[in-house]
Order: sequence, then structure tokens, then C-alpha cells
Amino acid sequence: MRSSTGCGSDLSLLELRDVQARYGEITALHGVSLTVAEGDFVAILGANGAGKTTTLRAISGTVKTSGDILFDDHKLFRRSPEAMARKGVAHVPEGRGTFSTLSVLDNLRLGAWVQRGVSPRDLANVFEFFPRLYERPDQQAGTLSGGEQQMLALGRAMMAKPRLLLLDEPSLGLAPLVVREIFAALKQLNEGGTTIVVVEQNAALALAAANHAYVLETGRVVLGGDAADLKANESVRRSYLGY
Ligand code: ATP
Repeated sequence: MRSSTGCGSDLSLLELRDVQARYGEITALHGVSLTVAEGDFVAILGANGAGKTTTLRAISGTVKTSGDILFDDHKLFRRSPEAMARKGVAHVPEGRGTFSTLSVLDNLRLGAWVQRGVSPRDLANVFEFFPRLYERPDQQAGTLSGGEQQMLALGRAMMAKPRLLLLDEPSLGLAPLVVREIFAALKQLNEGGTTIVVVEQNAALALAAANHAYVLETGRVVLGGDAADLKANESVRRSYLGY
């Protein structure tokens, strides 16, 4: 447990203790420990290959790990992606992972599988967040712009009503205006109670949105703390903020 200055509480929702992960011969995580409090907006920063994506995969059960992962103070033994989704973890991977041949509406409907049915209210909520999706419910996802696809990926995750939303590089390849829209939506979701962990190459953006942040280096956490404090940290500024 730790205190935080943003929306986060003192109650830990997620804890990684000495988590290790490998891809064959390659060790991607060498013992990552971090805590995410309920209501937190956490940014994970680090250079290419530092292990950021693998950390998200470890949490959502899409990569095998050793070490302990606790959710709601319970140690997790069965961590298949399906089990994690049922616990309330939604993962928007890099590249968005929408079903390109399905319509916007069908993608959103699929997002609700964990809720056992599509709630019209949840759908209306997604359309309120993203009017651009409301305007094109029948359009094939693969023909949407990059920004619209990211909105769809986020909307699909919202349909699962997650407690914990994991996002991998949501700003990648998007125009600044669209990135602002996506991050405004994330802020709003977080203020509504959804805990968020975001991996982001745009460190300035991530640190502005987050209340807490971790820096990974070659599969280890090398820094962690209040996002504002990290922003003021000279080595973080030089390495990730370019000043
Ligand atoms: P990036 O910003 O480039 O995505 P990252 O910080 O997200 O980097 P990871 O993608 O988690 O880092 O990769 C951590 C390490 O694991 C790297 O050395 C990477 O080459 C390796 N790795 C990642 N995915 C695989 C894979 N499917 N097979 C083999 N090695 C992998």
C-alpha cells in the first residue's frame, strides 16, 4: 500500500511482487515489483525493450510468469486471459486488436461478453464518450481511421466495465488532436472510478495524465513514485522528456 496525490486511494488493487517473465531464452522481466492503488492512473515508462508491454501481458495473463500477482489483495493462481477479464481486467494492446472485418457495433458488442450481454446503457455511454463511433455503427472496423480504431478499442474495453484498464501505447501513430481526445476520455474514465495503467512512449503526456509512474529498464523497475515528482526528476526529464 502507498499513498498517492491523484484519484488513487490507499487501497491496493494490484500488486506485482518479483514478477519474472521469459520468451524462450530471453528474460523480459527480471523481478518487477509494483503497486497500483484503486483509482490510480499509473504510467509505465521506459526505453524500447525495457519490458513495458510484457508487464501489461503479465497482468492480463497473456504471458506466463513466476513471482506473485495479487488482485484485490488475493494472490492469483489461475491467470488465463479469460480469468483476468472476468476479474475486471481489460487490456487494449498496442495495435488496438479490434476485429477489422466486423462492424463498429459488433466490436462493441463483443466487448461486453464478460458482462453476459450488451447493456444499452453501456453502449450509450461509449457513444457519448466517442460520438465518432455513434456516427458510424455499421462501418467495418478495418476501414476506420487510426484514431477511430483507438476509440473503438477503448470503447470495446469500456463495454466490459473493467475495474482495471491496461493500455499499451494508445497514442502511437495518432495526430495530436486525436491523442488529446483519447487522453481526455481516459482522464474522465479514471475520474469515474476506473483504475488505469498506461504504457506510453509519449512520457510528457503520460506523466501529465497519471498520478503515479514507474520507469522500467531492462526488465526491472528502476524508479517509481508520484508522477509530478518523476517529472521533476532530472534523469527522467533528460531520458524521457528531452530537457
Ligand atoms: P517496446 O517499447 O519496444 O514495445 P517494451 O518496453 O514494451 O518495448 P517488451 O516488448 O516487453 O518491451 O520486450 C521486453 C523484452 O522481451 C525485449 O528484449 C524484447 O525483445 C523481448 N520480447 C518481447 N516480445 C517477445 C517475443 N514475442 N519473443 C521473444 N522476445 C520478445
